[in-house]
Amino acid sequence: MKYSARRRIALVRRKSRQVKGKLRRWYMDKFKKDAIRLGMSERQGECLMCGQCCRLVFKCPFLEKQGSCETCRIYKYRPAQCRHFPIDHKDLRDLGRSCGYTFVRKTTTKESTESTESTESTESTDE
Ligand code: SF4
Ligand code: SF4
Repeated sequence: MKYSARRRIALVRRKSRQVKGKLRRWYMDKFKKDAIRLGMSERQGECLMCGQCCRLVFKCPFLEKQGSCETCRIYKYRPAQCRHFPIDHKDLRDLGRSCGYTFVRKTTTKESTESTESTESTESTDE
């Protein structure tokens, strides 16, 4: 009984982290294009078509099984958040499973943006 309550709490925590992750990716795709580009430039590997990122929070209705792979029925028209997953380490942490992608550095896009901004401000004060 105690164990199952603990499991429920862990599940709620994981789901709420995934919801935050979805909102974060949506926000970044809308307003932080530079951070997205930076994240993409630091991403290595390839998609294994496991479909795990399409199951975050809930299973996407466009996800369908084809043989050993999970494919997207609207792949050509999939949203930017799907195209850019994972943006950084935070997304991999939300996934909680292995992904075909890794990152060169353990830098989150927020940190990257801050570092870019601080470099820019240093450059502008140097002028
Ligand atoms: S979790 Fe990673 S490897 Fe799996 S489908 Fe998503 S991006 Fe591709
Ligand atoms: S739209 Fe396609 S890529 Fe995006 S979550 Fe759904 S199945 Fe996955």
